[in-house]
Amino acid sequence: SKEEGGKHASFFKKQMEKSFSEKMILDHSLHEAIRENQFELYYQPKIDSNTEELSGMEALIRWQHPEYGIISPSTFIPIAEELGLIFEIDKWCIFQACKQNKAWHNKGYPDMPVSVNLSAKCLYEPDLISILKSSLEATGLDAKYLKLEITEGVFIRDPDLVIDKIKKINQLGIAISIDDFGMGYSSLYHLLHLPIQEIKIDKIFVQDINKDEKQGAIVNMIISLAHRLRLNVVAEGIETKEEVNRLRQYQCNEFQGYYYSKPLNHKEFTQYLINTDKK
Ligand code: C2E
Ligand code: CA
Ligand code: CA
Ligand code: CA
Repeated sequence: SKEEGGKHASFFKKQMEKSFSEKMILDHSLHEAIRENQFELYYQPKIDSNTEELSGMEALIRWQHPEYGIISPSTFIPIAEELGLIFEIDKWCIFQACKQNKAWHNKGYPDMPVSVNLSAKCLYEPDLISILKSSLEATGLDAKYLKLEITEGVFIRDPDLVIDKIKKINQLGIAISIDDFGMGYSSLYHLLHLPIQEIKIDKIFVQDINKDEKQGAIVNMIISLAHRLRLNVVAEGIETKEEVNRLRQYQCNEFQGYYYSKPLNHKEFTQYLINTDKK
């Protein structure tokens, strides 16, 4: 429940403020989570705004903690980043998402790309390119069915290095999406200078799109601009039909949010695929 989630969140927040030795305990439990396979990927459908058909999915990690239950990524990802464990986790996500997506392809469901979130820190990992390559090779997934979502925060430390890394990822055939677009710094600069293929408009901008005229104007402007740069535009956090209508009017390409479906575990997502097949 929401309340429980809040309790976990505050538990971990308190942990983060605590002493070094207590952080070591968290460090230990995250290591254990990696070792004992306590992570699970959920998949949230993305919908094509023209056809209303399923066009892809975003992989979202969950931590099934033996004592605390399901822990949300917004709680443990920042800690994993701080403890230097994030690459371990994101490596697992990349491989797992490729493997699961290939399994769906093999079962005869329509071939669609899976989007995986990648923490800013991972762009600075020398092994990233070889991990991506080997994940595709080992699972047999075609690179065009994998996308990576990164936030603008990746550029703060060393923009040149990151641009170079993104170009190498593109060369593998993997598309890059800028997540939480508009939340970071100098967004427009990035649109102009980066070899990216997609932006995702954060749910904060979607939420008041019909209540606040200015907010609508900003989203409309972002989408037009992105289209002039030939970028695909996804809106996340869509919860109402009114939001869908407005975003369609602005010619947003893909929709994602509770209005269509919450994130589903692999079993539920398979059922979702079967149901959409029948329609
Ligand atoms: P994000 O990438 O911006 O993902 C969107 C978040 O919004 C997800 O939360 C999703 O469950 C939630 N969401 C989807 N539709 C709706 C809606 O209609 N309304 C509302 N209010 N929320 C909606 P989640 O799954 O808790 O993930 C939170 C964040 O954790 C993600 O934000 C992403 O930054 C990070 N994250 C998730 N999985 C991974 C991962 O595998 N690796 C890394 N590095 N980060 C991850
Ligand atoms: Ca994302
Ligand atoms: Ca977001
Ligand atoms: Ca994000």
